[in-house]
Amino acid sequence: MKLNILFINDVHGYLAPHPELFYNETGEVVETVGGYERIAGLVEAIRNDNPNTLLFDGGDTLHGTKPLVDSQGEAIIPILNSIKLDALIGHWDFGYGPERLQEISEHLTFPILGCNVYNEDGSSFLNPTMMYEKGGVKIGVIGICAMIVDKVMPEKMGKGLKFTSGVDEVPQHIKSLKAQGADVIVLLSHNGFPQDVALLEQVEGVDICLSAHTHNRIYKPLMINGARIVQCGCHGSFMGKFTLEIEKNTIKNYAYELIKIDSSLPKSEKIDVLVEKVLKPYQNIGTVVLGRTDTILHRYNTINSTMDSFLLNAIANATKTDIAFSNGWRYGAPIFGDITENDLYNIAPMNPPVSTVEMTGTEIKEMLEENLERTFCKDPFGQMGGYVKRVLGLQINMRIENPNGHRIQEIYYEGSHLNLEEIYKVSFVTTQGVAKKYGKNRKEHHMKAVDAMKSYLKKTPIYTPEKVVSFRLV
Ligand SMILES: [Zn+2]
Repeated sequence: MKLNILFINDVHGYLAPHPELFYNETGEVVETVGGYERIAGLVEAIRNDNPNTLLFDGGDTLHGTKPLVDSQGEAIIPILNSIKLDALIGHWDFGYGPERLQEISEHLTFPILGCNVYNEDGSSFLNPTMMYEKGGVKIGVIGICAMIVDKVMPEKMGKGLKFTSGVDEVPQHIKSLKAQGADVIVLLSHNGFPQDVALLEQVEGVDICLSAHTHNRIYKPLMINGARIVQCGCHGSFMGKFTLEIEKNTIKNYAYELIKIDSSLPKSEKIDVLVEKVLKPYQNIGTVVLGRTDTILHRYNTINSTMDSFLLNAIANATKTDIAFSNGWRYGAPIFGDITENDLYNIAPMNPPVSTVEMTGTEIKEMLEENLERTFCKDPFGQMGGYVKRVLGLQINMRIENPNGHRIQEIYYEGSHLNLEEIYKVSFVTTQGVAKKYGKNRKEHHMKAVDAMKSYLKKTPIYTPEKVVSFRLV
């Protein structure tokens, strides 16, 4: 029996084809890829060839672009139902609060799974698992939502909920799914690639791990403790395709392909119409040019980001500060050439208010050390950030390999060592940029992030990122 397992993850609301970062012999290049009409076209072709096909989504699906944020996830419901997903898990999908996620779930034709999400009374907030049957083969699927939702994300996302790593729950679910006759065990997880590898090393019995969150492009499955693990980049630019040959309740053979979602693929006319309908009211913000960049602005690097340096320059300009912080978000399609308002919303889809706060040099150092630990912690389950915090106005020399609290060697401000006793007024966006526990005299500026970027482009219509980066590996 031939079973196809298809997988997309971290689409982040990119409904239509969009710029994506690739690499060739000259370095970074941008190509237009992705879009649900092509994802759907490919899925339809595979289903026509083999009805024994399952399609899973690794989450970060209901949030990330303006149409989705404006509609609190509503806009994508008909699209997801039409491509006939089999299950979803969540991270930013909790972005509108747990109650809203449940409301959306009621309108979906497939379940949102999470074996690690609990209500205050200890009951499960989501279905932990789901059993599927294709061609006489039973496939048991266990879902793990991002364990960081109640730890480092905006408060309202995990309100009233508790998230665990799933390490304790998964073995019990494998046992019970197998008792119910599961031939194949699939783990669908939004903990992130390092975390999923760590979990698989501790848990026996997973056949396939569909990993999400950290945007890894994995071309060939890695074998960890008998499980094959993959992840498919982000923004719906890739789809993973497993072809499993199952004989006598075991996987006898398998093939895997990471398929680029480009214009060579068939288009689903039905999904094309649905996507067009959602995007029509946003046509204008996608065509009016506000500025330009001749360097690719993107967030694909762990340590420094050209896209975030643009955002930070804008908020620093709005608040007349020269130090600025934002979170190391992963999502956001690259920008190259013309910059439109739609691009600005892709940088900051929640359009948060710009804020200022007064921090001592010591607090700045502590905050950065904490963030480096959350990014590079030796225990993968301690890695709770996105990428390294984005910083403007400081240069930080660091050694990633040093112990927690001792990675930063030097912090330079205007060419000299940062004075740990001095108070600096800094700007930031969101509590992920500067957590509430840091600083004094926290103030919300009248401008929001998108307006700050617009007014910065008025002043600097051709944006070129700084030559000197904020973080240096020494
Ligand atoms: Zn995520």
